[in-house]
Amino acid sequence: MKVEMNLVDKSNNPVRTPTTGDPENISASTLSSLLASKDRDYLLPSTTEADQQVKISDLEGKVIGIYFSANWYPPCKNFNRVLIGVYEELKSNGSNFEIVFVSSDEDLDAFNGYRQSMPWLSIPFSDLETKKALNRKYKVESIPCLVILQPEDTKEDSTFFDGVELIYRYGVDAFPFTKEKLEELQREEKRKHDSQTVTNLLTNPDRDYLLDQTMARKVPVDSLVGKTVGLYLSAQWCLPCVEFTPKLISIYQKIKQTLEEKGGEDFEIVFVSNDRDQNSFESYFGAMPWLALPFGDPSVRSLAKYFDVQWIPCLIIIGPDGKTVTKQGRNLINLYQEDAYPFTDAKVESLEKEMEEAAKSLPRSEYHAGHRHELNLVSEGSGGGPFICCDCDEQGSGWAYQCLECGYEVHPRCIRAVTPQSSIEDR
Ligand SMILES: [Zn+2]
Ligand SMILES: [Zn+2]
Repeated sequence: MKVEMNLVDKSNNPVRTPTTGDPENISASTLSSLLASKDRDYLLPSTTEADQQVKISDLEGKVIGIYFSANWYPPCKNFNRVLIGVYEELKSNGSNFEIVFVSSDEDLDAFNGYRQSMPWLSIPFSDLETKKALNRKYKVESIPCLVILQPEDTKEDSTFFDGVELIYRYGVDAFPFTKEKLEELQREEKRKHDSQTVTNLLTNPDRDYLLDQTMARKVPVDSLVGKTVGLYLSAQWCLPCVEFTPKLISIYQKIKQTLEEKGGEDFEIVFVSNDRDQNSFESYFGAMPWLALPFGDPSVRSLAKYFDVQWIPCLIIIGPDGKTVTKQGRNLINLYQEDAYPFTDAKVESLEKEMEEAAKSLPRSEYHAGHRHELNLVSEGSGGGPFICCDCDEQGSGWAYQCLECGYEVHPRCIRAVTPQSSIEDR
């Protein structure tokens, strides 16, 4: 079974410059050529306001987000929640911002339902032509997509196509989405990452401690200085999290035990809870043997933003020097179990080499108890690559035994070699 696995560590890459579009002057006439049709010069208001149509000319002078989205697609619903928060905060502080929803919903009912949640304006669902023209103009290939237009901007490249990423990354701080503002945010982010320490990551002006398992004892954040620290972003409502947690607990205990025997180094995990209420936090954390940020602490949100975490579970590894080692702790745990410690590039490289060496002595093909066909040894270069092991359900990469007939694939360590006859009887 092939899966896409994201092993790219974005945190080590230079900060990307925002994607920009064609130079354009957003004047009133441009706005109406974008958003109006020959028999419509207005937009639908949010459903919470009395049914007052909004003239397109009223948008003149505002920063405008053209928002392509659909209710049937979970990533849209996910982003929608975040965008509503940002929009409402910008509105309440009087920022000159407006959003226009361009629907890709299946039918009018779905559109109306989705619009109920939206505090901003919409192109009428029936106006297919305008919606199509906007999709074409901004070359929208995937949703959610948020295109940001600047008011009466005379400078070139002032249209931003990656509004979704900017909102996820910077939240309200991204406003007014000018090139200058975004460059300033990138500089600030780089400064923060350069001066990162475990203390400035995990404390805030009101709190300099973490909770231990009893939830009663406060452990100073400073006690983590000099240790390898895993930040575990997880929640009890998230099924992949609940499945990963017991695995992480057992591996954590093995790493701790090995380090204790060796002496000198230390490892700790801090649970960063994305739970929805105090009770689920307490019951989830209750089973974990490590430390936690208090439930609902402001650092929970700022850490997710700072590390640009879009999916949980996520295990971010901080080195003894306080710098980020990797954001792929979860993948590394799945691939190498306790051997993954201390998660550094050098360690991963040596694990890969070890796997290469070990593979040299493996038989080229095997029959495996539980599969009727012969399995062939494959590697990254010979038809292998990231996979999910059909025997233990964990991720694998590099070497594997693969069935060329049906794609069945297992870790070399999961092979239970049998003779051809007995592998069939086993089924
Ligand atoms: Zn396996
Ligand atoms: Zn097969």
